[in-house]
Amino acid sequence: MTAPFLIIGAGQAGLKAAETLRHAGYDGDLVLIGDEPQLPYQRPPLSKAYLKGEMDDERLLLRPQAYFDTASIEVRAGTCAVRIDPAAHRVELADGSRLAYRRLLLATGTRARQLPIAGADRAGVLTLRTIADIAPIRAALDAVEDVAIIGGGYIGMEFAAVAADFGRRVTVIEARPRVLERSVAPQISAWFEALHRARGVRLALGTGVARILGDPAATGVELADGTIIPAGLVLVAVGAEPVTGLAAGAGLAVDDGIAVDACCRTAAPDIYAAGDCASFPSARYGRRLRLESVQNAVDQARAAAAAMVGDAVAYDPVPWFWSDQYDAKLQIAGLSTGYDRTEIDGDPDSGSFALAYYAGDRLLAVDAVNAPRAHMLARRTLAADAPASGPASLARAG
Ligand SMILES: Cc1cc2nc3c(=O)[nH]c(=O)nc-3n(C[C@H](O)[C@H](O)[C@H](O)COP(=O)(O)OP(=O)(O)OC[C@H]3O[C@@H](n4cnc5c(N)ncnc54)[C@H](O)[C@@H]3O)c2cc1C
Repeated sequence: MTAPFLIIGAGQAGLKAAETLRHAGYDGDLVLIGDEPQLPYQRPPLSKAYLKGEMDDERLLLRPQAYFDTASIEVRAGTCAVRIDPAAHRVELADGSRLAYRRLLLATGTRARQLPIAGADRAGVLTLRTIADIAPIRAALDAVEDVAIIGGGYIGMEFAAVAADFGRRVTVIEARPRVLERSVAPQISAWFEALHRARGVRLALGTGVARILGDPAATGVELADGTIIPAGLVLVAVGAEPVTGLAAGAGLAVDDGIAVDACCRTAAPDIYAAGDCASFPSARYGRRLRLESVQNAVDQARAAAAAMVGDAVAYDPVPWFWSDQYDAKLQIAGLSTGYDRTEIDGDPDSGSFALAYYAGDRLLAVDAVNAPRAHMLARRTLAADAPASGPASLARAG
């Protein structure tokens, strides 16, 4: 009997790889192993519509059970893989059983980074990554008046928007001098800071956190300068780290994420990786990248599946990403790292504009705020790597 194709990690990337394998005509056994109890689901709504109660569990799922039955994809939910034996082509599960594989894809994603400060283990100190995180967050949101969010990245700011809409007093604490600093220019940060302030959100910028107060439950956050921010709910949103333990335990190289080549192959025969957990060499950007986005999970999983059936193609995307805060949609195309100037078009005060990042004359990235057509045009322009058509035309397209 031929061993199955095995996918560890039943998230966005794992599911897309399974779907793609079937589309590509792979008709052997296909097993999708996930340690969460649900069928594969979308994470973005966890900090948006689902958190607000505007989306039910069924719509959160990426595919219904009927799909897996029809496509003959065996989903083993609630099953954790604990060890890989690359030489024997075998995976050990938490219950001690072993599964042979012909090809293995690691799509293990990321986990929320914890904060190593006093009080981080108090009740009411929460993170937001999985569907299991939502019930305690909703319960806390119902029970408290004051919410503190540590980290002004995308998840922190999206959560701030939801908590403010729920009528809570919200403070975002960010160590850097502005929110979203890691990925956008100061003008975009300023626009979102103003948006949040207009909704009553307080921003404590450029300040570290000393400790979380309260015992046994959180009552507040003490900042590095001694200021106390009252909070019965403290969301720790300080980024995510790739889940690489299985790969490292199997002797695979880890370089930020599980290191793969341009075709999603690790150095071990028949083992591939894709999605948030994988770092790959990008010829487009001249360096190794690890991306945390739906775009990357989907597109890299497609590339990994192609490689698994012997049709390897280099994966080298124009990354894109979105974030929803209140009624505002930010869409980012490209990577702005290394830009030396920006051009803004449209009037930020109108609520719809685009900001283009350049290195010399080369367009690197475009952030579009409530300008979806500008975003789509930017993606096409960047994919063609054509001479920039200029932010004016990009913004007008929005
Ligand atoms: C709250 C939130 C909001 C987001 N919003 C956006 C957005 O607006 N736009 C955007 O582009 N991206 C967004 N993202 C990011 C996007 O959801 C991720 O990039 C995407 O889910 C990555 O998919 P993945 O399959 O690589 O990893 P995951 O979706 O994390 O799936 C990995 C799965 O593998 C499982 N696993 C790990 N180890 C094992 C093991 N040993 N055995 C079995 N199973 C294992 C994990 O439990 C998990 O279920 C958001 C993420 C979060 C958390």
